[in-house]
Amino acid sequence: MNSEDQLSFAELGLAAPVLKAIEETGYETPSPIQAASIPHLLEGRDLLGVAQTGTGKTAAFSLPLLSRLDLKSRHTQLLILAPTRELAIQVAEACQTYARNLADFHVLPIYGGQAYDTQLRQLKRGAQVVVGTPGRVMDHMRRGSLKLNNLQALVLDEADEMLRMGFIDDVEWVLEHTPEDRQIALFSATMPAQIKKVAQNHLNNPAEIRIKAKTATATTITQSYLRVSGNQKLDALTRILEMQSFDAMLIFVRTKSATVELSEKLAARGYASEALNGDISQNLRERTVDKLKRGQIDILVATDVVARGLDVERISHVLNYDIPYDTESYIHRIGRTGRAGREGEAILFVSPREQRMLKSIERATRQQIDQMQLPSTNDINEKRVKRFVDRITETIESQDIEFYKNLLTEYQQENDTDPLVVASALAHLLQGKTPLLMKEQPRQPRRDREERGDRGDRGNRRQPRGMSTQAKPLKDNPDVKMQRYKLNVGHEHGVAPKNIVGAIANEADLDANLIGSIEIYDDCSTVDLPTGMPKAVVQQLRKAVVCGQRLNIQDMSSEGKGAPSGGRSRRSGGNNSNSRNRPPRRNRKDSKDSKKSSDS
Ligand code: AMP
Repeated sequence: MNSEDQLSFAELGLAAPVLKAIEETGYETPSPIQAASIPHLLEGRDLLGVAQTGTGKTAAFSLPLLSRLDLKSRHTQLLILAPTRELAIQVAEACQTYARNLADFHVLPIYGGQAYDTQLRQLKRGAQVVVGTPGRVMDHMRRGSLKLNNLQALVLDEADEMLRMGFIDDVEWVLEHTPEDRQIALFSATMPAQIKKVAQNHLNNPAEIRIKAKTATATTITQSYLRVSGNQKLDALTRILEMQSFDAMLIFVRTKSATVELSEKLAARGYASEALNGDISQNLRERTVDKLKRGQIDILVATDVVARGLDVERISHVLNYDIPYDTESYIHRIGRTGRAGREGEAILFVSPREQRMLKSIERATRQQIDQMQLPSTNDINEKRVKRFVDRITETIESQDIEFYKNLLTEYQQENDTDPLVVASALAHLLQGKTPLLMKEQPRQPRRDREERGDRGDRGNRRQPRGMSTQAKPLKDNPDVKMQRYKLNVGHEHGVAPKNIVGAIANEADLDANLIGSIEIYDDCSTVDLPTGMPKAVVQQLRKAVVCGQRLNIQDMSSEGKGAPSGGRSRRSGGNNSNSRNRPPRRNRKDSKDSKKSSDS
C-alpha cells in the first residue's frame, strides 16, 4: 500500500513554495505524466508529451516551469498557448493555484472575445506568465503590447486541437517570433503529421513522453459509466448508493482532502464510510481496511496510492468518482472488485470534458463501457417504498412483537381508533422528520467551465452569449434560422474556412456547430451565423483579426443574401450540413478543411 516504487513530489526537485502549494492543494503523488515530465522541464530540456486532458498535464508543465521563474522581474518568461478561451482561463487558474506561495507572481490570460483595452492595461503592468489563444497572442505581439524578449519557456497545450481549429499557422508564427533559446514543451493528445513537423522544426532534442496504456481487466467485472459534471457528482453518488445493492464499495477520488470531505458527507447521510489517504498513518490505514473486511464500515473513500494492492473480497463495487489519470490506474482501480472469482461492478463518473479519457479506457480495456442512467426520483421513491414495506414484513416474520401487539390492542380499545390509523402513526414515528419520499428536484442548467470547455458535447459549448444554452447543434437542429454576414478577408489574404471557423468560435464564444455555410471570394468571404446574435458579439467579431485582416463583419440581410459583387468564389459547406443556400460549385479542399474545423 505504499508508494515505494514512485517518486514523491518532494523528490522531483520543485521549488519549495510550489511544493507547499501542491501539499495545500491535496495532491498526494505525481501522476505518471508529471513524474515523467517534471525532471526534464526543470532541467530546461524541450519536451514532447503525448497526453490528454485529465492526465494532470497542466501541473506536469506548470509546476516545473513556475519553479524556474525569476519573480524579481515582471517580464513575461513563460507563454502558454491553448486552443480555447476556456482552456486558457483554466490553465491560468491552475498556475495561480500552484504559484499561490510565490511572492509577486502574476499570470495573465489573454484570449479572443475579451476587450483589448483591459488586456492592454494588464499587459502593461506585466505578468511573468501569459496564457493565451494563438490569434490574440499573435495580435498583441504584433502590436508590441506583448513583449517576449525575455521569454524562457513556451508551452503548446493541446496542439492537435489548435491544429484542428485552424491556428497552426498562428502557432508557427509565434514560435518564429520568440527568442531562439527558449525552452518548448509541446503537449498533444494525438500526433498528426503537422504537429510532428512543428515538433521536428522547433523542438531541440526533446524528451519524449507517452503515457502507455495497459490492457486486461477481469471479465467478472461489469463496467458502466455515468455522464455527470462536477457539481452533480454527490447527488449522483447518493442516488446510486440508494439504488444499488452493494456489499462494500470503494470510491476513488483524486485528492487527500476529497477522501475526507466525501466520506464525511456520506457519513452524514447515514452511510458507514471512512477515508483512506496517504496522510493517515500506516497503522490506522490497516485498521480501517480491517473494519471494511469485517463489515464495520461499508464504504471506503480512497486515493489511488493507498488503495494499491487492496484485497478485500467484500468489495462488490468500485466507483470512480474522479476519473483516473490514465488507463493503467483505471484497470488497477477496478481490479479491487471481482476478487476471488466474485462478481464485481465498476462505475465511472465522466464529466463532459473527460470523454476522451473514457474512449482511451475503452480502447485499453478492449471493452465497451455501457452508459448508465442516473436513477430518477421515481426509481428512488419506488425503491424506498419497497424497502420500507420489506422492513415491516421482515419484522413481522422475524421479531417477537407480542409485547407491542398487546400494548397496541389496549391502545386501540381505549381510544377506539382504527388499527390502520395506529399503524400509520407508528410509521410516521419511525420515519421521523425525514420524509420517506424524495421530492423531484428541478435540475439547474449550470454553465460551469467544465461543461463549457467540453469537447465531446459540442451542443452545449460556445453558444453566443445571451443565447439559450440548450440550443442544439445545427446538424440536429434544422430550425435554427441563419443570417448571412460578410467578412473582410478573402483568397488574396490566404484565408481558408478553418481560419474563419476558428476565429469565430473563439471570438464569439460560438459553438463551431453553429457556424453555417462559408463562401470565400477574392477579397472577402461570407458566413452564415444564427440570427439574433447579441450586438456585443457582432461588435467583437468586427474587431477580430484573421490572416492579418480585421474581419469587419457586416450583416448582409439588409442587402439581400446574395454573393458579394465581383471576384471568384470558392465555396464551402461550412459546418452546417443543413445549411441553406448550398452553393452550386463546391471546392473540395475547402469543404474538407471546414469539416475538420467542425470536428475540432
Ligand atoms: P489536467 O489533465 O491538467 O486537466 O488535470 C486534471 C485534473 O487532475 C485537475 O483537476 C487537477 O487538479 C487534477 N490533478 C492534477 N495532478 C494531480 C495530482 N498529482 N494529484 C491529484 N490531482 C491532480
